[in-house]
Amino acid sequence: MIYDLLIIGAGPAGLNAAIYATRAGLKTAIIERDAPGGKMTRTEKIENYLGVSEVNGAELGLKMFNQASSFGSEYIYGNVKSIQKEGEIFIVDCEDESYRAQKIIVATGTKERKLNIPGEDKFYGRGISYCAICDGALYKGKDMAIIGGGNSALQEALYLAPLARKIYLIHRRDDFRGEDFLAQKIRQTKNIELCLSYSPKEFVGTKTLEKVVIKSNKNQEEKNLTVSVVFPFIGFDPATSFLDKELLDSEGYLIVDENLESKVKGLYGAGDVIKKSLRQIITAASDGAIAATNVAKGLEKQKGN
Ligand code: NAP
Repeated sequence: MIYDLLIIGAGPAGLNAAIYATRAGLKTAIIERDAPGGKMTRTEKIENYLGVSEVNGAELGLKMFNQASSFGSEYIYGNVKSIQKEGEIFIVDCEDESYRAQKIIVATGTKERKLNIPGEDKFYGRGISYCAICDGALYKGKDMAIIGGGNSALQEALYLAPLARKIYLIHRRDDFRGEDFLAQKIRQTKNIELCLSYSPKEFVGTKTLEKVVIKSNKNQEEKNLTVSVVFPFIGFDPATSFLDKELLDSEGYLIVDENLESKVKGLYGAGDVIKKSLRQIITAASDGAIAATNVAKGLEKQKGN
């Protein structure tokens, strides 16, 4: 069987692409290796999605998934390993199966960036976590640290503050990268102690994490912070390992034109995975709509020829 469209990734970009594609009459499937919803499922509170003043991320993800499924899009559980083009048809190889489609939308988003410092792997799951909403409650009443100065670090620090006895917010510069609105809230929160211009050097413990060693970027002074858990939120890298390097920019993001089509005709990109300036749920959803509409137009044109 050949699908009209295979969408890789079930975050807001992939799910909205599925809605637009199925409504345009395309035989569509989404391939996803995880639960639907993407990164937003690990966000406690979303306040900047148009028309919804406040919503839990997992709830919004589930609503999007149900909406996409209601129009007839298939959901395939799979981990894509490679994509090849044979003539006009794409072959998508997963670990166990292969699928064929006329067009592809890559909407795989990004994955958490690692610090790559001693102890990070050793204490993963034993005092180091990349998901505050999943693991924060396990450390209720304890001292915690968050690393990073972007929106994720600031937002998660505010989510964890009511649960923690104390939070150290460790950021390598004096200025936050995240929005002023969040930075202001952080500065007003009594149990958040800022460790600005410090970088993490090492995680230390025996069976579980006991402390994080941080080093000043101004005078090399070192501090030991005794904490039960550390949440690094230092950004994300694009999930594009299955794509040809020639399609990517130097950071690994998929390069697309104004129609969201890549250098390979018929292979489109949408959401956080593409090279662009603003990565938000609403911009991902918008990309999904644009890419799917262009896919539908392209197929219509092919039929006409
Ligand atoms: P980000 O904006 O890239 O911020 C990453 C932070 O980690 C930066 O402060 C960076 O420091 C720091 N960092 C990077 N590498 C580091 C290292 N090796 N050691 C120590 N610190 C390091 O990532 P993000 O906060 O995850 O956000 C990703 C995207 O999602 C952004 O576009 C963001 O706006 C969006 N987002 C939006 C919301 C919202 O709208 N509410 C919420 C979450 C995320 P420097 O600043 O010095 O580079």
